[in-house]
Amino acid sequence: MSEIPLSTLITATAPIEAANHGGRAKCLQRLVRLDLPVPRTVALSFAAVQQVAAGELPDIRAILAEFSEDALLCVRPSSEVPDWGGPSAILNIGMNDARYLSLSEVLGQAAAASLYLRFVQSYAVHVARLDPDVFDDVEDGGPDALREILQAYEAETDEVFPQDPGEQLAAVLRSMARAWEGTSARLLRQAKGAPADAGLGLVVQEMIPGLGQGECGSGVLQLVDSDSGLPQLTGRYLSQSQGREALGAGTEALFLEKDARGPSLEELAPEAFARIKADAALMRVRLREEMQVEFVIQNGALHILDGVRVLRSSRAAVRIAVALAQDGIIPPHEAVMRVDAHVLSELLHRQVAPSAARDVIGAGIAASPGAATGQLVFTAADAQSSAARGEPCVLVRRETSPDDVRGMHAAVAVLTGRGGMTSHAAVIGRGLGLPSIVGASNMTFDSRKKRLISASGQVFHAGDIVTIDGSRGEVLAGEPEMLEAAEDDAFQALLAWADEARDIDIRANADTPADAQTARNFNAQGIGLCRTEHMFFDPGRLTVMREMIFAETSSGRAAVLARLLPMQREDFLELFRIMEGLPVCIRLFDPPLHEFLPTSKTGQRELSEALDIPVSDVTRRVEEMAEYNPMLGLRGVRLGVTVPEIYDMQARAIFEATLLASKDGAPVVPEVMIPLVSAKREVELVKARIDAVAAAVAAEQGESFDYRLGVMVETPRAALRADEIAPHTSFLSFGTNDLTQMTYGLSRDDAGRFMSNYVQQGVFPEDPFHVLDVDGVGELLKLGVQRGRSTNPEVTLSICGEHGGNPESIAFCREAGFDYVSCSPFRVPVVRLAAAQLAI
Ligand code: PEP
Ligand code: MG
Repeated sequence: MSEIPLSTLITATAPIEAANHGGRAKCLQRLVRLDLPVPRTVALSFAAVQQVAAGELPDIRAILAEFSEDALLCVRPSSEVPDWGGPSAILNIGMNDARYLSLSEVLGQAAAASLYLRFVQSYAVHVARLDPDVFDDVEDGGPDALREILQAYEAETDEVFPQDPGEQLAAVLRSMARAWEGTSARLLRQAKGAPADAGLGLVVQEMIPGLGQGECGSGVLQLVDSDSGLPQLTGRYLSQSQGREALGAGTEALFLEKDARGPSLEELAPEAFARIKADAALMRVRLREEMQVEFVIQNGALHILDGVRVLRSSRAAVRIAVALAQDGIIPPHEAVMRVDAHVLSELLHRQVAPSAARDVIGAGIAASPGAATGQLVFTAADAQSSAARGEPCVLVRRETSPDDVRGMHAAVAVLTGRGGMTSHAAVIGRGLGLPSIVGASNMTFDSRKKRLISASGQVFHAGDIVTIDGSRGEVLAGEPEMLEAAEDDAFQALLAWADEARDIDIRANADTPADAQTARNFNAQGIGLCRTEHMFFDPGRLTVMREMIFAETSSGRAAVLARLLPMQREDFLELFRIMEGLPVCIRLFDPPLHEFLPTSKTGQRELSEALDIPVSDVTRRVEEMAEYNPMLGLRGVRLGVTVPEIYDMQARAIFEATLLASKDGAPVVPEVMIPLVSAKREVELVKARIDAVAAAVAAEQGESFDYRLGVMVETPRAALRADEIAPHTSFLSFGTNDLTQMTYGLSRDDAGRFMSNYVQQGVFPEDPFHVLDVDGVGELLKLGVQRGRSTNPEVTLSICGEHGGNPESIAFCREAGFDYVSCSPFRVPVVRLAAAQLAI
């Protein structure tokens, strides 16, 4: 391999690569190749900068020789990825007393003083490392200020300000190279994903002053709006100014285009203005990216100093990528690769419907947009338990700390009494895409008694339902009507391209018609998991459910369940109708029955009244049914085997709904799933009964139908014995929540208490309930897949635990050969994009 020169004049043909000179140098070369008016530039390679940091200087004379003798120079950082940052640029290198005098003749004394002053100031702070406060008062000075600052420099350093351009340049290069090696710079860029050995290049460029006679100044311009991504000429221009910093907010910039309200660049320098617009458009096409142009006008002539990728919101990122593809500048698959799947979810906000009645009980800072409804919880642990029960919750804290993050993951929204836009809750809430309100100071937060008190004195307790409108910063009582997220054309186009590239199917976990509708809106390919137990917590059904639990005999239970049958049939019918023939996988009843019994004395008394039995009977039954370890107790298929009437009723409801839905719509082939299986015999027993119900329904109605029976692999034993189980099933769906719990022997409800400690100490790299443990749980998944397919090659394989919505875990699922993943409805677009990116 040929040696990379330490410093290279950037020309159309010079060997410049981002991997060894940095992105800025590479971009400048592209601009030179496009024949844009770029000032002369020399690029220093990563190796050169490393040597400089180690105390060895490149040939300064050789660098200077590339420029005219009276040129002023600037040095700017050029890291491989612009996002990784770098030291501040230093402008006007070469200014000294003599240049000051000669430039005073050409540009005027004020302009010359301003150039010199600026250089001394940044040299003092960044190179000589003097306290910036010393130079605070000399911001906009002329010759007097210049004198003052030179004296201040001398007083602080006991040296006169260096006059030799070579010495100045050497010191600037050394200080910038060393700044890159500093601990804070290192940590900052590593946090942005830079590798430990990330290199820094530097570019030395001839300065175009931006000050002097004729129209002079500097500006930035881009062709799109950074928030919306829509075409819109945006930027700033300031006459008689130098560099980006001069353009900071608050400066009196001119309009770019003609404007009745004041002077514009278009009027002052029409030719240069027309050229920037044309050059920006050319850059977009040839650099295949929406670019911001940094430019200087010198006596009416345009110079382009740099082009940087336009900063963009998530929404704009989608629009820009899609527009580039629609204009034929990049292929659609590249647009798919350019959008970060994680940020896509920011675009998917549900809102309180504008027409809904709003019962506002408090207000604060709208810290993270979107709206969500849930029951109040006051601790992170409660939030996690609530989520594990499948009950959406709003986490209420006075303020949050890192210990609350897991609780925030589990909550649908966050509300705090303290904090501002950058408080922990706000930052994390936005990161998670959780509707969040912080600093709701007109409410009283009583976490000890788990109460929230509104401004008007209304008291809300844990479990009460509230809605957080994070877009408006308002807390609402109850559950107002919601409007689903609007997906714009660009979003749709991007996901349509993603779907073309994707090679794994994506379904949604949906328990309610609203979930199913969201799943359809996001183009899920079916429902991968409908947790039916959620349908029984409705107050009207709860009492019937309890009555069933109290029934002494099988026929008594069946009689009570017959009352639930029409309700369940209606549930399923609605899901089938919404899904219009797409697969719907219904999981039979899973939780322990005692979860449906009241634990409080009052609740037990109420139940005794409702069922007309003595309280002592209720209490005895509750005690009898209590389990030491309910998650490992009488639940899932174990109920199906020992209390089969529940599954009989559910199977009947599914099949009757199937026939009804198929009558007036697309034919439905329901999928019936048995949870928590650990032995083949369990499947045989349940299958026999379900087949019998199917046969009975078909005979009663005089119509046949198909259905698919499947097994949830949630216990390690089911994964290990998948070869025995698979011949009895059409599909195996891996429930990675329980499988993680049982593989680790780690309670999904209680692990939150010590999980952050464990992650902090590096015991687990991540919370395994959030990111799939590829090494352990993944090993079981692979065994299950392999063994299941070995005896039933046709078996459909999927995962439906929370991990299905995690882009990192999808890579594993694809490689392991799963047919589909099922995730919560709002994750569907994120997963569609992430899966496509893996396939491209
Ligand atoms: C699972 O265990 O992964 C699963 C999907 O079921 P649940 O979360 O309802 O236990
Ligand atoms: Mg489970």
